[in-house]
Amino acid sequence: MDRRRFLQLAIGATATGYAVWERSRNSRQEQDRPPGVHPEIWDTLTALSVLDTHEHQEEEADRLRRHVDFMEYFRHYSLSDWRSAGLRDEEIAVLNRADVDPADKWARLRPFWQAVRNTGYLQAALIAIRRIHGVEELSPATVRQISEELQRSNRPGYVRHVFKEICGVEYAQVNALESGVVYRSQTDPDLFLQDISGLRLMLPFANLDRIASETGGPIDTLADYERAVDWYFERYGKEASAVKNQCAYSRVIRFGAVRRAEAERLFDRWRKNRRSLSRDDLLALGDYSWNYIVAKAGEYDLVVKIHTGYLAGNNTLELDRIRPAHLTSLFRRFPRVRFDLFHMGYPHEFETVALVKQYTNVYVDLTWAPIVNPVAASRYVESFLASCPVTKIFAFGGDYRTVDPVYGHLWITRAVVGEALTRRVRAGGMRLRDACYAAKCLFRENVERTFHVRERAARLKKRLGDRHATNR
Ligand SMILES: [Zn+2]
Repeated sequence: MDRRRFLQLAIGATATGYAVWERSRNSRQEQDRPPGVHPEIWDTLTALSVLDTHEHQEEEADRLRRHVDFMEYFRHYSLSDWRSAGLRDEEIAVLNRADVDPADKWARLRPFWQAVRNTGYLQAALIAIRRIHGVEELSPATVRQISEELQRSNRPGYVRHVFKEICGVEYAQVNALESGVVYRSQTDPDLFLQDISGLRLMLPFANLDRIASETGGPIDTLADYERAVDWYFERYGKEASAVKNQCAYSRVIRFGAVRRAEAERLFDRWRKNRRSLSRDDLLALGDYSWNYIVAKAGEYDLVVKIHTGYLAGNNTLELDRIRPAHLTSLFRRFPRVRFDLFHMGYPHEFETVALVKQYTNVYVDLTWAPIVNPVAASRYVESFLASCPVTKIFAFGGDYRTVDPVYGHLWITRAVVGEALTRRVRAGGMRLRDACYAAKCLFRENVERTFHVRERAARLKKRLGDRHATNR
């Protein structure tokens, strides 16, 4: 399909006009094969229907209500590289405004363009822009063109169109980021599964007033808190995709064992006066609550996703706090719970190769790492496959809030994995047919097997079925 035809479809189609699987297959064949990837491996990678393990996507109804322009491609992640290169916060505030002309926004980004255009974040955005808008180079004229096309295509069905037909993603697991939300109970069940937010349940980060109003009871004691945690698992534990925790943004990811009596004492003091606990007290209270949540996840056979490694944004990274190696006592405390270590632990990524190899209940997820550092991610996959079972790694999570750049991230991830597999085959470490099998495992089969995607999607659809059918 050429660009003009795609845009006619994107702009003019109704929701029913999108769901043509044949068209998506044609559109995926358009992708250029990276020179370092064996043709058979690339064909396998691009023909696969992908199961995406990690997104922060908004619901389409929310996208329809807001202004969109070319910054959709750059707002999440890319701005951090621009900022790292020197773009000031005052300029970033202007970029986020709806009333500023796209060409004026581009004028503020342009001075740093050459500095950032070859990073993984920016390459992902550029690859998506080229695929969706046919634009090769950014300029005042092309940022206006992209913005106008996005505004025209901002109608029901576009999010599914990009995920399912442009990217070939069947289901995406979402960690909702709305303030205080533990579980996003209303979603598009034909595309999204929702994670239970371990972070939003964990102390001291949980918004207990909000949780109390949602679960229908005051939270004055530790027992009340535990009942509220139970409520979310009882209600959503069988349909949720996983439990996700990104507390690495706020604390060390080492979780000790804390006795309940000690946690009760800390909880009572904390409820009376939030400032009364020391840093160590708060960590202990957090440890107790996280252990409680992990045990619950085990009861419902939910995978526990933990952010390890690099942090998004600027000027906050503490390299020691984010080490995957801190998690070993948690793995041993819950031998029946499966842990998915996010972002391959970069830049401590070789720790996760050793952890996955050793621990029977530990898996790794590349999500986001292929655009944080594509070269490190490809080297990682090569090393991982030479050391660990091919069933214990998941390749793709776009990790974006908006749908627009997902295609670029997916293309880079296919290239990163394809190059690693090709190198293994050329080195004589893997047969070509095993490399093609590995490609299927990484992008689909491991996810299906480990997260029970089909069963969970069926339960979610069942709960939302009637309401969802009438909304379409
Ligand atoms: Zn994320």
